[in-house]
Amino acid sequence: MVLILPVGEVERETLEWLREDLEREFGFEAVVADENEAIPNPDFALDAERGQYDSTVMLYSMMERPEFKRYGRVLGVASADLFAPGLNFVFGEAGTRAAIISTRRLRETFYNREEDRGLLRKRILTEAAHELGHTFGLGHCAFQDCVMFFSNTIEDTDRKGPRFRGRCLEKMVEAGALGK
Ligand SMILES: [Zn+2]
Ligand SMILES: [Zn+2]
Repeated sequence: MVLILPVGEVERETLEWLREDLEREFGFEAVVADENEAIPNPDFALDAERGQYDSTVMLYSMMERPEFKRYGRVLGVASADLFAPGLNFVFGEAGTRAAIISTRRLRETFYNREEDRGLLRKRILTEAAHELGHTFGLGHCAFQDCVMFFSNTIEDTDRKGPRFRGRCLEKMVEAGALGK
């Protein structure tokens, strides 16, 4: 069971998309956290100088919460821009049972282009699948059309799409990660 956890102000519809898409594409049973469980204010992870949020700090705060232990995986979704030490930004980050993604750079409006809801939905699923893949022990993959390819840019995300390919798909099956 995957708990989809809003971190800060997150557009509700995007969480519902993710729940549906994770079930449809991978057979993951997923639920969207209710308001008591959500992390309403991620300012503890804010780096004021950078104007960005530390994804590792967010991730650890999620992993520490005892009430999340009953979920197989916890997937945080933030709208704030994330960074990790040594990187200008990250689309997401994963730990052992928890992962976090940011929708910020998945929106066309971030690149001064017109909003594209269909593309946003696909990108959210792609980044979520990538980070969940890490939580099942997968590393980065050299194939540009596999979801485990490392995204440096949004073009990488669009090129690879949300599917596990080849050996990565086998590893997900071996890990018992894919429900259908
Ligand atoms: Zn990665
Ligand atoms: Zn792969």
